[in-house]
Amino acid sequence: MKIINSIFHMQALAVAPEREGRRIAFVPTMGYLHEGHASLLREGRRRGDVLVLSIFVNPIQFGKNEDLDSYPRDLERDFQLADACGADIVFIPTVADMYPSGFQTTVSVHDIALPLCGASRPGHFDGVATVVTKLFNIVRPDCALFGRKDYQQLAVIRQMTADLNLPVEIVGMPIIREGDGLAMSSRNAYLSSSERQSALCLFRALTRARELYSAGERSVAILARETRAIFEKEAAVVIDYVEFRDGVLLHELENVDAGTVLALAVKIGKTRLIDNTVFGEEL
Ligand code: AMP
Repeated sequence: MKIINSIFHMQALAVAPEREGRRIAFVPTMGYLHEGHASLLREGRRRGDVLVLSIFVNPIQFGKNEDLDSYPRDLERDFQLADACGADIVFIPTVADMYPSGFQTTVSVHDIALPLCGASRPGHFDGVATVVTKLFNIVRPDCALFGRKDYQQLAVIRQMTADLNLPVEIVGMPIIREGDGLAMSSRNAYLSSSERQSALCLFRALTRARELYSAGERSVAILARETRAIFEKEAAVVIDYVEFRDGVLLHELENVDAGTVLALAVKIGKTRLIDNTVFGEEL
């Protein structure tokens, strides 16, 4: 497994597979890897001849009062997991190389990036769209794998890839959860043990909404009220949003159907957690 820091070197490494018709599969991450990332890497290994993982904590997708400086890091452990999943290349660019002084071009995705996390994290998805475009231009992948855990991010990247005719197949992957249902996230490391217990209300809320849906309930007003009630029992939890949206363009709805996404964001202490489910699909 090669560890590459230089953008120039990474771009040069991508040339040979392209010329020889070997497929590059790409998994972009911010590191502090867990089983969720591993599932993307394993699928990337299956789909590509060359598997590239990037680790880059992208400063331009963090707001002023967010956790950029405290974002958890453990490169040694990441290398072990990447190696075990069969990565060929780990690309770890520096912030100074990705955003040299004078950098002034960004990619902006409009309507789909405005609600949900876009509303509470202004500018976040422009930061994501910009770094993903840069990484695609550096790694030159045939396919790139993203988790449905970050549902809106996946929708934004699909839209951007289509709008800009980027020659990359976007693959969405299922959410990997702990045994008790908590969606795996690098940010779970911030949680105290009592916060970790409170965080289970996300899974309880998704499960409750899915039960009601299975029993025939379709009204967003009723489902939203029932879902919110789960959080309101947890003193430590502050709701950011509980939203039922169409699964492609994230439009607002009055009634849910197969393909509707229930997207949740809450704050527990200082930690912001997101989770989601798509009705008619596996949890
Ligand atoms: P991050 O390092 O948090 O930026 O995540 C990198 C990629 O891993 C993104 O495409 C995430 O959606 C995906 N990912 C993170 N957590 C999970 C999870 N629990 N299950 C599946 N994919 C995940």
